Amino acid sequence: MNTTTCYYCNTQAAEARYAFKKIIYNKLDSNYGLGLTGIKKTTRYYEKEFLIPRCANCAIEHGKPNKPAGIIALVVFAISGSFTYTFAKRWYVAVIAGIICGIVAMSSYFILVYHKRLKTLGIKDANNIKDFSPVKDLLDNGWQTIKP
Ligand SMILES: [Zn+2]
Repeated sequence: MNTTTCYYCNTQAAEARYAFKKIIYNKLDSNYGLGLTGIKKTTRYYEKEFLIPRCANCAIEHGKPNKPAGIIALVVFAISGSFTYTFAKRWYVAVIAGIICGIVAMSSYFILVYHKRLKTLGIKDANNIKDFSPVKDLLDNGWQTIKP
């Protein structure tokens, strides 16, 4: 009964259980009030949830990088952290350096390995939803993919 084509590869039939859930936001207003640490800004916004049609194959590809990216981040964190500690002799400096290096390594992996692989396969990244027509219409009208 469901014959929607997968948004990400545009070839295979999408399956409901593999749909990718994505919420987009539209700012309603901002208010300033007094908080414990000074002036506090609160923003109210609308949100809309979308289920992006996805096939089993794309769902598997989208899930693949999480494990290696996590391992890379951990290994780089441990190496750069202990390397920094031998020089800085302060554990918090080592932790901060480790976290920064871990994030850089993980981002590099996503850009250099994962996104390259998706490109070769002709699959869009899970969060690349700007061409999905119902979402696109809203994004053109001021909606955002991150909380305002
Ligand atoms: Zn697909």
